[in-house]
Amino acid sequence: MYNIEELIKENPILDKVKNLEPTVWINPDRKTGDEAWDNVEFTIDDIKEADQRFRKFAPLMIKLFGEEFPELYESKGILESPLVRLENLEKKYRQEKDFKGKLYLKMDSHLPVVGSIKARGGLYEVLVFAEILAKENNLLDENRDYSQFADEDFRNLFSKYTIQVASTGNLGISVGVMASALGFNAIVHMSNDAKDWKKKHLRDRGATVIEYDGDFSTAITKARELSLQDEFSYFVDDEDSTTLFKGYSVAALRTKEQIEKMGIKVDKDHPIFLYAPCGVGGSSGGVSFGFRRVLGDNVHAFFVETTHIPSFLIGASTKLHSNISVYDLGIDGKTEADGLSVARPSKFSGHTMESLLSGVITIEDYTLFETLRELNDLEDIRIEPSSTSSIVASESLFNYEQVKEYLEKYDLLDKLDNVTHICWATGGNLVPKEIMDNYLKK
Ligand SMILES: *Cc1c(COP(=O)(O)O)cnc(C)c1O
Repeated sequence: MYNIEELIKENPILDKVKNLEPTVWINPDRKTGDEAWDNVEFTIDDIKEADQRFRKFAPLMIKLFGEEFPELYESKGILESPLVRLENLEKKYRQEKDFKGKLYLKMDSHLPVVGSIKARGGLYEVLVFAEILAKENNLLDENRDYSQFADEDFRNLFSKYTIQVASTGNLGISVGVMASALGFNAIVHMSNDAKDWKKKHLRDRGATVIEYDGDFSTAITKARELSLQDEFSYFVDDEDSTTLFKGYSVAALRTKEQIEKMGIKVDKDHPIFLYAPCGVGGSSGGVSFGFRRVLGDNVHAFFVETTHIPSFLIGASTKLHSNISVYDLGIDGKTEADGLSVARPSKFSGHTMESLLSGVITIEDYTLFETLRELNDLEDIRIEPSSTSSIVASESLFNYEQVKEYLEKYDLLDKLDNVTHICWATGGNLVPKEIMDNYLKK
Protein backbone atom coordinates (compact mmCIF):
# COMPACT_ATOMS: atom_id res chain seq x y z
CA MET A 1 0.00 0.00 0.00
CA TYR A 2 1.01 3.59 -0.36
CA ASN A 3 0.35 6.84 1.33
CA ILE A 4 -0.90 9.62 -0.95
CA GLU A 5 0.92 12.38 0.96
CA GLU A 6 4.20 10.46 0.62
CA LEU A 7 3.59 9.87 -3.09
CA ILE A 8 3.07 13.57 -3.69
CA LYS A 9 6.21 14.40 -1.73
CA GLU A 10 8.25 12.01 -3.91
CA ASN A 11 6.55 13.18 -7.13
CA PRO A 12 5.98 16.95 -6.92
CA ILE A 13 4.20 16.85 -10.30
CA LEU A 14 1.31 15.08 -8.59
CA ASP A 15 0.60 18.26 -6.68
CA LYS A 16 -0.12 20.03 -9.97
CA VAL A 17 -2.07 17.04 -11.21
CA LYS A 18 -4.18 16.98 -8.05
CA ASN A 19 -4.92 20.69 -8.51
CA LEU A 20 -6.07 20.05 -12.10
CA GLU A 21 -3.30 22.22 -13.57
CA PRO A 22 -2.32 21.33 -17.15
CA THR A 23 1.20 19.92 -17.06
CA VAL A 24 3.75 17.59 -18.62
CA TRP A 25 5.33 14.56 -17.04
CA ILE A 26 8.64 13.61 -18.65
CA ASN A 27 9.45 9.91 -18.36
CA PRO A 28 12.87 9.63 -16.69
CA ASP A 29 13.16 5.99 -17.80
CA ARG A 30 12.85 6.47 -21.56
CA LYS A 31 15.58 4.40 -23.21
CA THR A 32 17.09 4.30 -26.67
CA GLY A 33 18.95 1.63 -28.65
CA ASP A 34 18.75 -2.05 -27.69
CA GLU A 35 18.30 -1.13 -24.07
CA ALA A 36 14.82 0.19 -24.82
CA TRP A 37 13.67 -3.33 -25.66
CA ASP A 38 15.04 -5.31 -22.70
CA ASN A 39 11.70 -5.51 -20.93
CA VAL A 40 9.28 -5.30 -23.84
CA GLU A 41 7.47 -8.55 -24.61
CA PHE A 42 6.35 -7.51 -28.12
CA THR A 43 8.53 -7.72 -31.22
CA ILE A 44 8.55 -6.60 -34.84
CA ASP A 45 7.26 -10.09 -35.72
CA ASP A 46 4.10 -9.41 -33.71
CA ILE A 47 3.45 -6.31 -35.79
CA LYS A 48 4.13 -8.12 -39.07
CA GLU A 49 1.95 -11.07 -38.10
CA ALA A 50 -0.96 -8.74 -37.35
CA ASP A 51 -0.44 -6.95 -40.66
CA GLN A 52 -0.42 -10.29 -42.53
CA ARG A 53 -3.59 -11.42 -40.80
CA PHE A 54 -5.39 -8.20 -41.75
CA ARG A 55 -4.29 -8.81 -45.35
CA LYS A 56 -5.66 -12.35 -45.30
CA PHE A 57 -8.99 -11.05 -44.07
CA ALA A 58 -9.14 -8.23 -46.62
CA PRO A 59 -11.48 -10.10 -49.02
CA LEU A 60 -13.86 -10.69 -46.10
CA MET A 61 -13.91 -6.98 -45.28
CA ILE A 62 -14.96 -6.20 -48.84
CA LYS A 63 -17.64 -8.88 -48.76
CA LEU A 64 -19.13 -7.79 -45.41
CA PHE A 65 -18.73 -4.02 -45.59
CA GLY A 66 -17.96 -3.08 -49.21
CA GLU A 67 -21.48 -2.00 -50.01
CA GLU A 68 -21.66 0.42 -47.08
CA PHE A 69 -18.03 1.55 -47.40
CA PRO A 70 -17.11 1.51 -51.12
CA GLU A 71 -13.65 2.87 -50.31
CA LEU A 72 -12.84 -0.72 -49.29
CA TYR A 73 -12.84 -1.72 -52.98
CA GLU A 74 -10.23 0.86 -53.73
CA SER A 75 -8.05 -0.18 -50.78
CA LYS A 76 -8.56 -3.88 -51.65
CA GLY A 77 -10.11 -4.54 -48.26
CA ILE A 78 -7.34 -2.96 -46.18
CA LEU A 79 -8.58 -0.51 -43.58
CA GLU A 80 -6.20 2.43 -43.53
CA SER A 81 -6.51 6.14 -42.90
CA PRO A 82 -4.91 9.18 -44.52
CA LEU A 83 -2.01 11.14 -43.07
CA VAL A 84 -2.63 14.80 -43.94
CA ARG A 85 -0.76 18.06 -43.45
CA LEU A 86 -2.74 20.71 -41.56
CA GLU A 87 -1.24 23.65 -43.39
CA ASN A 88 -3.77 26.31 -42.41
CA LEU A 89 -3.85 25.40 -38.75
CA GLU A 90 -0.06 25.21 -38.74
CA LYS A 91 0.12 28.71 -40.17
CA LYS A 92 -2.23 30.03 -37.51
CA TYR A 93 -0.22 28.38 -34.72
CA ARG A 94 2.99 29.71 -36.26
CA GLN A 95 1.62 33.25 -36.14
CA GLU A 96 -0.10 33.10 -32.76
CA LYS A 97 1.82 30.57 -30.72
CA ASP A 98 5.39 30.47 -32.01
CA PHE A 99 4.76 26.98 -33.39
CA LYS A 100 7.67 25.27 -35.14
CA GLY A 101 7.83 22.26 -37.44
CA LYS A 102 5.20 20.64 -39.65
CA LEU A 103 1.76 19.67 -38.40
CA TYR A 104 0.14 16.42 -39.55
CA LEU A 105 -3.07 14.62 -38.66
CA LYS A 106 -3.30 10.82 -38.83
CA MET A 107 -6.98 10.38 -39.54
CA ASP A 108 -8.02 7.13 -37.87
CA SER A 109 -11.17 9.13 -37.23
CA HIS A 110 -12.00 8.22 -40.81
CA LEU A 111 -11.10 4.52 -40.83
CA PRO A 112 -13.87 2.70 -42.71
CA VAL A 113 -16.49 0.57 -40.87
CA VAL A 114 -15.69 1.79 -37.36
CA GLY A 115 -14.60 5.44 -37.64
CA SER A 116 -12.00 5.23 -34.89
CA ILE A 117 -8.57 3.92 -33.92
CA LYS A 118 -10.38 0.98 -32.27
CA ALA A 119 -10.85 -0.56 -35.72
CA ARG A 120 -7.21 -1.65 -35.58
CA GLY A 121 -7.51 -3.56 -32.30
CA GLY A 122 -11.17 -4.49 -32.00
CA LEU A 123 -11.64 -5.91 -35.49
CA TYR A 124 -8.32 -7.68 -35.13
CA GLU A 125 -9.18 -9.52 -31.92
CA VAL A 126 -12.54 -10.68 -33.27
CA LEU A 127 -10.85 -11.94 -36.45
CA VAL A 128 -8.19 -13.80 -34.43
CA PHE A 129 -10.89 -15.52 -32.39
CA ALA A 130 -12.92 -16.38 -35.51
CA GLU A 131 -9.84 -17.89 -37.16
CA ILE A 132 -9.08 -20.03 -34.09
CA LEU A 133 -12.65 -21.36 -34.01
CA ALA A 134 -12.65 -22.06 -37.74
CA LYS A 135 -9.40 -24.02 -37.48
CA GLU A 136 -10.49 -25.96 -34.39
CA ASN A 137 -13.65 -26.98 -36.20
CA ASN A 138 -11.88 -27.87 -39.47
CA LEU A 139 -13.93 -25.39 -41.46
CA LEU A 140 -11.07 -23.50 -43.02
CA ASP A 141 -10.31 -24.33 -46.65
CA GLU A 142 -6.70 -23.25 -47.20
CA ASN A 143 -7.26 -23.13 -50.97
CA ARG A 144 -9.87 -20.39 -50.72
CA ASP A 145 -9.54 -16.78 -49.64
CA TYR A 146 -10.87 -15.61 -46.29
CA SER A 147 -14.19 -14.34 -47.65
CA GLN A 148 -15.21 -17.92 -46.79
CA PHE A 149 -15.67 -16.62 -43.22
CA ALA A 150 -19.02 -15.22 -44.38
CA ASP A 151 -20.26 -18.68 -45.46
CA GLU A 152 -23.30 -20.29 -43.86
CA ASP A 153 -21.35 -23.01 -41.99
CA PHE A 154 -19.03 -20.42 -40.44
CA ARG A 155 -22.00 -18.31 -39.35
CA ASN A 156 -23.67 -21.35 -37.80
CA LEU A 157 -20.56 -22.07 -35.79
CA PHE A 158 -20.08 -18.45 -34.68
CA SER A 159 -23.73 -18.12 -33.66
CA LYS A 160 -23.04 -20.54 -30.78
CA TYR A 161 -20.57 -18.06 -29.28
CA THR A 162 -20.86 -14.71 -27.58
CA ILE A 163 -18.21 -12.01 -27.75
CA GLN A 164 -18.32 -9.47 -24.94
CA VAL A 165 -16.46 -6.22 -24.37
CA ALA A 166 -16.61 -3.27 -22.01
CA SER A 167 -16.12 0.16 -23.48
CA THR A 168 -16.59 3.88 -23.12
CA GLY A 169 -17.81 3.76 -26.73
CA ASN A 170 -15.52 3.15 -29.66
CA LEU A 171 -14.02 -0.20 -28.72
CA GLY A 172 -17.60 -1.39 -28.24
CA ILE A 173 -18.47 -0.26 -31.74
CA SER A 174 -15.42 -1.95 -33.22
CA VAL A 175 -15.88 -5.31 -31.49
CA GLY A 176 -19.69 -5.20 -31.65
CA VAL A 177 -19.93 -4.40 -35.35
CA MET A 178 -17.34 -7.01 -36.39
CA ALA A 179 -18.73 -9.74 -34.12
CA SER A 180 -22.33 -9.15 -35.27
CA ALA A 181 -21.31 -9.09 -38.92
CA LEU A 182 -19.75 -12.56 -38.54
CA GLY A 183 -22.80 -13.98 -36.80
CA PHE A 184 -21.54 -13.98 -33.20
CA ASN A 185 -23.76 -12.77 -30.40
CA ALA A 186 -22.23 -9.47 -29.37
CA ILE A 187 -22.69 -7.93 -25.94
CA VAL A 188 -21.22 -4.51 -25.27
CA HIS A 189 -21.03 -3.24 -21.69
CA MET A 190 -21.08 0.54 -21.68
CA SER A 191 -19.94 2.86 -18.89
CA ASN A 192 -21.94 5.94 -17.93
CA ASP A 193 -19.73 8.18 -20.10
CA ALA A 194 -20.73 6.39 -23.30
CA LYS A 195 -22.63 8.63 -25.70
CA ASP A 196 -26.20 7.63 -26.59
CA TRP A 197 -25.55 7.69 -30.32
CA LYS A 198 -22.82 5.07 -29.90
CA LYS A 199 -25.27 2.78 -28.07
CA LYS A 200 -27.86 3.29 -30.81
CA HIS A 201 -25.31 2.63 -33.56
CA LEU A 202 -24.52 -0.74 -31.96
CA ARG A 203 -28.12 -1.75 -31.31
CA ASP A 204 -28.97 -0.93 -34.93
CA ARG A 205 -26.31 -3.42 -35.98
CA GLY A 206 -27.62 -6.25 -33.85
CA ALA A 207 -25.42 -5.98 -30.77
CA THR A 208 -26.82 -6.10 -27.24
CA VAL A 209 -25.87 -3.04 -25.20
CA ILE A 210 -25.83 -3.22 -21.40
CA GLU A 211 -25.59 0.15 -19.67
CA TYR A 212 -23.93 0.74 -16.32
CA ASP A 213 -24.46 3.51 -13.87
CA GLY A 214 -20.78 3.45 -12.94
CA ASP A 215 -17.55 4.36 -14.73
CA PHE A 216 -15.42 2.22 -17.04
CA SER A 217 -13.74 0.26 -14.21
CA THR A 218 -17.15 -0.77 -12.88
CA ALA A 219 -18.37 -1.79 -16.33
CA ILE A 220 -15.30 -3.84 -17.21
CA THR A 221 -15.19 -5.64 -13.86
CA LYS A 222 -18.86 -6.68 -14.13
CA ALA A 223 -18.48 -7.59 -17.81
CA ARG A 224 -15.46 -9.79 -17.17
CA GLU A 225 -17.33 -11.65 -14.40
CA LEU A 226 -20.39 -12.20 -16.57
CA SER A 227 -18.30 -13.47 -19.47
CA LEU A 228 -16.45 -15.96 -17.25
CA GLN A 229 -19.75 -17.56 -16.24
CA ASP A 230 -20.46 -18.60 -19.84
CA GLU A 231 -18.13 -21.15 -21.40
CA PHE A 232 -19.22 -20.06 -24.88
CA SER A 233 -18.32 -16.46 -24.19
CA TYR A 234 -15.10 -14.73 -25.25
CA PHE A 235 -14.09 -11.51 -23.52
CA VAL A 236 -12.11 -8.74 -25.25
CA ASP A 237 -10.27 -7.21 -22.32
CA ASP A 238 -9.37 -3.56 -22.90
CA GLU A 239 -7.22 -3.48 -19.75
CA ASP A 240 -5.24 -6.57 -20.52
CA SER A 241 -5.38 -7.77 -24.11
CA THR A 242 -2.12 -8.32 -25.95
CA THR A 243 -4.12 -9.19 -29.08
CA LEU A 244 -5.71 -5.74 -29.16
CA PHE A 245 -2.26 -4.23 -28.63
CA LYS A 246 -0.77 -6.08 -31.61
CA GLY A 247 -3.66 -5.02 -33.83
CA TYR A 248 -3.14 -1.37 -32.92
CA SER A 249 0.59 -1.57 -33.58
CA VAL A 250 0.04 -2.26 -37.30
CA ALA A 251 -0.60 1.48 -37.67
CA ALA A 252 3.15 2.05 -37.48
CA LEU A 253 4.04 -0.12 -40.49
CA ARG A 254 1.39 1.58 -42.60
CA THR A 255 2.23 5.12 -41.45
CA LYS A 256 5.92 4.48 -42.18
CA GLU A 257 4.96 3.75 -45.78
CA GLN A 258 2.92 6.95 -45.96
CA ILE A 259 5.77 8.96 -44.45
CA GLU A 260 8.19 7.61 -47.05
CA LYS A 261 5.79 8.25 -49.92
CA MET A 262 5.29 11.82 -48.75
CA GLY A 263 9.04 12.35 -48.65
CA ILE A 264 9.12 13.09 -44.91
CA LYS A 265 12.60 12.61 -43.51
CA VAL A 266 13.06 10.83 -40.19
CA ASP A 267 16.51 10.91 -38.61
CA LYS A 268 18.41 12.42 -35.72
CA ASP A 269 18.00 15.91 -37.17
CA HIS A 270 14.38 15.31 -38.26
CA PRO A 271 12.52 13.81 -35.32
CA ILE A 272 8.88 12.77 -35.13
CA PHE A 273 6.77 13.96 -32.22
CA LEU A 274 3.78 11.67 -31.85
CA TYR A 275 0.72 12.68 -29.82
CA ALA A 276 -1.59 9.84 -28.79
CA PRO A 277 -4.83 10.53 -26.91
CA CYS A 278 -4.79 8.08 -24.01
CA GLY A 279 -7.50 6.40 -22.00
CA VAL A 280 -6.48 3.02 -20.67
CA GLY A 281 -3.22 3.10 -22.65
CA GLY A 282 -4.19 0.34 -25.09
CA SER A 283 -4.55 1.90 -28.52
CA SER A 284 -2.29 4.78 -27.56
CA GLY A 285 0.27 2.24 -26.32
CA GLY A 286 -0.02 -0.08 -29.30
CA VAL A 287 0.48 2.72 -31.80
CA SER A 288 3.37 4.27 -29.86
CA PHE A 289 5.11 0.94 -29.33
CA GLY A 290 4.76 0.32 -33.07
CA PHE A 291 6.24 3.71 -33.92
CA ARG A 292 9.24 3.18 -31.67
CA ARG A 293 9.78 -0.33 -33.07
CA VAL A 294 9.30 0.53 -36.74
CA LEU A 295 10.63 4.10 -36.95
CA GLY A 296 13.15 4.00 -34.12
CA ASP A 297 14.52 6.28 -31.43
CA ASN A 298 13.82 9.44 -33.41
CA VAL A 299 10.19 8.99 -32.46
CA HIS A 300 9.26 10.96 -29.37
CA ALA A 301 5.92 9.59 -28.22
CA PHE A 302 3.69 11.56 -25.86
CA PHE A 303 0.34 10.45 -24.45
CA VAL A 304 -2.37 13.08 -24.03
CA GLU A 305 -4.94 13.16 -21.22
CA THR A 306 -7.34 15.75 -19.84
CA THR A 307 -6.70 17.41 -16.48
CA HIS A 308 -9.75 15.76 -14.90
CA ILE A 309 -8.70 12.19 -15.74
CA PRO A 310 -4.88 11.91 -15.95
CA SER A 311 -4.84 8.22 -15.08
CA PHE A 312 -1.88 7.08 -17.18
CA LEU A 313 0.26 9.97 -15.95
CA ILE A 314 -0.48 9.05 -12.34
CA GLY A 315 0.10 5.33 -12.91
CA ALA A 316 3.33 5.78 -14.88
CA SER A 317 4.92 8.51 -12.75
CA THR A 318 4.38 6.50 -9.54
CA LYS A 319 4.98 3.15 -11.28
CA LEU A 320 1.86 1.97 -9.49
CA HIS A 321 0.13 1.61 -12.87
CA SER A 322 -3.29 -0.04 -12.37
CA ASN A 323 -2.88 0.05 -8.59
CA ILE A 324 -3.78 3.72 -8.46
CA SER A 325 -6.69 5.67 -9.92
CA VAL A 326 -7.45 9.36 -10.34
CA TYR A 327 -9.98 9.07 -7.49
CA ASP A 328 -7.15 8.21 -5.09
CA LEU A 329 -5.84 11.72 -5.68
CA GLY A 330 -9.28 13.19 -5.18
CA ILE A 331 -9.76 13.97 -8.88
CA ASP A 332 -13.35 13.63 -10.17
CA GLY A 333 -12.62 11.87 -13.50
CA LYS A 334 -15.12 13.98 -15.43
CA THR A 335 -14.43 14.88 -19.05
CA GLU A 336 -16.32 15.47 -22.29
CA ALA A 337 -13.69 13.36 -24.01
CA ASP A 338 -15.42 9.98 -23.65
CA GLY A 339 -12.53 8.18 -25.37
CA LEU A 340 -10.16 9.29 -22.61
CA SER A 341 -12.55 8.61 -19.78
CA VAL A 342 -10.73 5.84 -17.93
CA ALA A 343 -9.80 6.43 -14.29
CA ARG A 344 -7.34 3.54 -13.95
CA PRO A 345 -4.69 2.70 -16.57
CA SER A 346 -3.79 -0.69 -18.01
CA LYS A 347 -1.05 -2.45 -16.11
CA PHE A 348 0.57 -4.19 -19.03
CA SER A 349 0.56 -1.10 -21.22
CA GLY A 350 2.12 0.84 -18.35
CA HIS A 351 4.91 -1.72 -18.06
CA THR A 352 5.42 -1.97 -21.81
CA MET A 353 5.68 1.80 -22.25
CA GLU A 354 8.13 2.28 -19.35
CA SER A 355 11.19 2.42 -21.60
CA LEU A 356 9.47 3.70 -24.75
CA LEU A 357 7.30 6.66 -23.81
CA SER A 358 8.65 10.22 -23.73
CA GLY A 359 5.99 11.57 -21.42
CA VAL A 360 2.37 12.48 -20.78
CA ILE A 361 0.82 15.91 -21.29
CA THR A 362 -2.51 17.00 -19.79
CA ILE A 363 -4.81 19.58 -21.33
CA GLU A 364 -8.06 21.27 -20.34
CA ASP A 365 -11.45 20.20 -21.67
CA TYR A 366 -12.42 23.56 -23.14
CA THR A 367 -9.42 23.48 -25.48
CA LEU A 368 -10.89 20.36 -27.13
CA PHE A 369 -13.84 22.33 -28.43
CA GLU A 370 -11.79 25.36 -29.42
CA THR A 371 -9.60 23.11 -31.54
CA LEU A 372 -12.59 21.23 -32.94
CA ARG A 373 -13.85 24.55 -34.29
CA GLU A 374 -10.46 25.61 -35.66
CA LEU A 375 -10.09 22.28 -37.43
CA ASN A 376 -13.57 22.63 -38.91
CA ASP A 377 -13.11 26.26 -39.99
CA LEU A 378 -9.54 26.08 -41.30
CA GLU A 379 -9.23 22.51 -42.59
CA ASP A 380 -12.83 21.37 -43.12
CA ILE A 381 -12.16 18.30 -40.98
CA ARG A 382 -14.46 17.10 -38.21
CA ILE A 383 -13.34 14.69 -35.48
CA GLU A 384 -14.59 13.89 -31.98
CA PRO A 385 -13.48 15.89 -28.91
CA SER A 386 -11.20 13.12 -27.52
CA SER A 387 -9.24 13.31 -30.75
CA THR A 388 -8.55 17.01 -30.85
CA SER A 389 -6.56 16.59 -27.63
CA SER A 390 -3.61 15.47 -29.75
CA ILE A 391 -3.60 18.75 -31.68
CA VAL A 392 -3.83 20.79 -28.49
CA ALA A 393 -0.86 18.80 -27.20
CA SER A 394 1.26 19.57 -30.25
CA GLU A 395 0.95 23.32 -29.78
CA SER A 396 1.17 23.41 -25.98
CA LEU A 397 3.93 20.87 -25.31
CA PHE A 398 6.86 23.09 -26.15
CA ASN A 399 5.86 25.83 -23.71
CA TYR A 400 6.91 23.72 -20.74
CA GLU A 401 10.28 24.17 -19.06
CA GLN A 402 10.64 20.41 -18.50
CA VAL A 403 10.17 19.86 -22.24
CA LYS A 404 13.03 22.31 -22.98
CA GLU A 405 15.22 20.16 -20.73
CA TYR A 406 14.05 17.08 -22.61
CA LEU A 407 14.95 18.70 -25.94
CA GLU A 408 18.35 19.62 -24.59
CA LYS A 409 18.96 16.08 -23.39
CA TYR A 410 18.30 14.70 -26.88
CA ASP A 411 20.13 17.56 -28.61
CA LEU A 412 16.97 18.81 -30.34
CA LEU A 413 16.81 22.45 -29.26
CA ASP A 414 18.06 23.77 -32.61
CA LYS A 415 16.07 21.25 -34.67
CA LEU A 416 12.54 22.30 -33.87
CA ASP A 417 11.92 23.62 -37.39
CA ASN A 418 12.55 20.06 -38.64
CA VAL A 419 10.04 18.37 -36.37
CA THR A 420 7.23 16.32 -37.92
CA HIS A 421 4.30 16.52 -35.51
CA ILE A 422 1.90 13.61 -35.92
CA CYS A 423 -1.38 14.18 -34.08
CA TRP A 424 -3.53 11.07 -33.85
CA ALA A 425 -7.17 11.67 -34.71
CA THR A 426 -8.61 8.75 -32.79
CA GLY A 427 -12.26 9.00 -33.77
CA GLY A 428 -15.07 11.02 -35.24
CA ASN A 429 -16.40 9.97 -38.63
CA LEU A 430 -19.48 8.25 -37.23
CA VAL A 431 -20.54 11.18 -35.01
CA PRO A 432 -24.08 12.12 -36.18
CA LYS A 433 -24.31 15.53 -37.82
CA GLU A 434 -26.56 17.15 -35.22
CA ILE A 435 -24.20 16.10 -32.43
CA MET A 436 -21.19 17.43 -34.33
CA ASP A 437 -23.06 20.72 -34.85
CA ASN A 438 -23.55 20.93 -31.09
CA TYR A 439 -19.84 20.31 -30.48
CA LEU A 440 -19.04 23.12 -32.88
CA LYS A 441 -21.22 25.51 -30.90
CA LYS A 442 -19.72 24.64 -27.50
C1 LIG B 1 -10.02 4.59 -27.21
C2 LIG B 1 -9.88 5.99 -27.58
C3 LIG B 1 -8.83 6.76 -27.08
C4 LIG B 1 -7.82 6.28 -26.08
O1 LIG B 1 -7.28 5.03 -26.31
P1 LIG B 1 -6.84 4.01 -25.16
O2 LIG B 1 -6.76 2.73 -25.87
O3 LIG B 1 -7.95 3.97 -24.14
O4 LIG B 1 -5.59 4.51 -24.60
C5 LIG B 1 -8.78 8.07 -27.49
N1 LIG B 1 -9.69 8.62 -28.32
C6 LIG B 1 -10.71 7.89 -28.82
C7 LIG B 1 -11.68 8.56 -29.73
C8 LIG B 1 -10.83 6.56 -28.47
O5 LIG B 1 -11.85 5.86 -28.97
